[in-house]
Amino acid sequence: MGELTVFNGSNDHKCHFVLVPLMAQGHMIPMVDMAQIIAARGALVSFVTTPVNAARIRPIIDRVKSHGLPIRFVELTFPCAESGLPEGCENVDLLPSMDLTRPFFDAVSLLRGPFESFVRDVEPVPSCMIVDYCSSFTAGIAQEMDIPRIIFHGPSCFYILCFQNLWEHKEYHEVDEFEPIVIPDMAQQVKISRAQAPGWFPGPDWKEVRDKAMEAEVSAQGVIVNTFHELEPEFVECYRKKIKKPVWPIGPFSLYNKDFTSKASRGKKSSVDERQVSSWLDSKETRSVVFVNFGSLVRTKVCQLIEIGRGLLASNRPFIWVLKEEEECCPEFRQWMSEELEGMEAGERSLVITGWAPQAVILSHPSVGGFVTHCGWNSILEAVCAGVPMITWPHFADQFLNEKLVVEVLKVGVDIGVRIPVYMMKENEVSVKGEAVEKAISRLMDDETDEESKERRGRAAKLAQNAWKAMEEGGSSYENLTRLIEYVSESSKLA
Ligand code: UDP
Repeated sequence: MGELTVFNGSNDHKCHFVLVPLMAQGHMIPMVDMAQIIAARGALVSFVTTPVNAARIRPIIDRVKSHGLPIRFVELTFPCAESGLPEGCENVDLLPSMDLTRPFFDAVSLLRGPFESFVRDVEPVPSCMIVDYCSSFTAGIAQEMDIPRIIFHGPSCFYILCFQNLWEHKEYHEVDEFEPIVIPDMAQQVKISRAQAPGWFPGPDWKEVRDKAMEAEVSAQGVIVNTFHELEPEFVECYRKKIKKPVWPIGPFSLYNKDFTSKASRGKKSSVDERQVSSWLDSKETRSVVFVNFGSLVRTKVCQLIEIGRGLLASNRPFIWVLKEEEECCPEFRQWMSEELEGMEAGERSLVITGWAPQAVILSHPSVGGFVTHCGWNSILEAVCAGVPMITWPHFADQFLNEKLVVEVLKVGVDIGVRIPVYMMKENEVSVKGEAVEKAISRLMDDETDEESKERRGRAAKLAQNAWKAMEEGGSSYENLTRLIEYVSESSKLA
């Protein structure tokens, strides 16, 4: 490892990593963590962002500066107007409608020009680019300038392997979209339908984006995954063998945030006082609270919200429930809340957060005993790190396959029973009734009386221990990062 310069406040870094995230919370948050992890090992990092996204993470940028971490935040203008997006829509979660996702990706690909100018002008010359799977616009310039390009895949090796094996499987493209099929070449039997595993870019509208992402993946030098070897050893190995390129599992990145302030400032400013949330949790018994949060993108319709609320009330357990602003302001739901929830024990039993919640603070609090999650990969990993078992409620994208990993492989979750992506549901149809919510909560939380639930919690605690060990010096992720930095440093010497 001798080639690496340890950061000493000077600008003399042997490696310069350029990080290019996709501007979506589930992609940006882990990359901001990754930037700090790499910089803490002495390499220089340039983190590509845009003005609105930079403003959201200003407290992190300020902290990075005050800690003397060698990270430069590079703000490129995001071409909203050119792509037909309202001004300021620089992140997927800021889009007023999901119909604007395709124009958003057009805007992303227009970043190519300003990105190229930056890469050509920046000093020192980049030793490597780490780019989100969805940032394929980086491939051309990396190739022209002979800069190694490494793909950052958001979810697990299990997910990537499942999806690649499905995609190469003839039956996947021919079978009825709701018919579950067995995924070929997996170490363990996994059955899923095409509707549940559509990939990132389903349908003809996305063909160009999909093809470019796939090409850029094939021509990349290797892959970084936000996972750790001990979580999914057989899938990490299988994936390595499949792509015949280096795969570096160097997560879970969220564990970089050890103190309260850094946990509280992930993503963007919380809509509540994090200390108040923490003291509310302090007043509850260990592992007694159910936490419900569906990530940055899911928007739940009123009839479904009411069913969730009914289930939570019937569970007789304390809970934190996170709502989006547009959900909470709906008059029908407000009425239900004021009749059913607000009078209830005057906030003793329930805490409803509208807007951005300090999820990392909440999940790592010892009073939290269960997490109702939409199965976004970051949320799952954060629960794994906290040893919190999950109720899995997938909505779309990678989430149904993530659920398979949690419930069938790791066995740290209870499946709530959703089988169809939310966008295929009829307007007033609910995926899950209140009774099913209540039942899943009692299956998950009854570990005093129920052996299955106790064993599940035990497995979750063991996974958390392994996650922490992986990130410590000498742990698998720590050592994989050492190998990655060595690889980059060697490659740039050869260039
Ligand atoms: N998150 C948060 N507060 C919220 C909603 C989300 O801190 O109120 C964070 C969460 O901790 C995770 C990320 O946003 O790090 C969401 O990523 P994930 O992959 O779970 O889901 P996505 O938002 O991409 O669907």
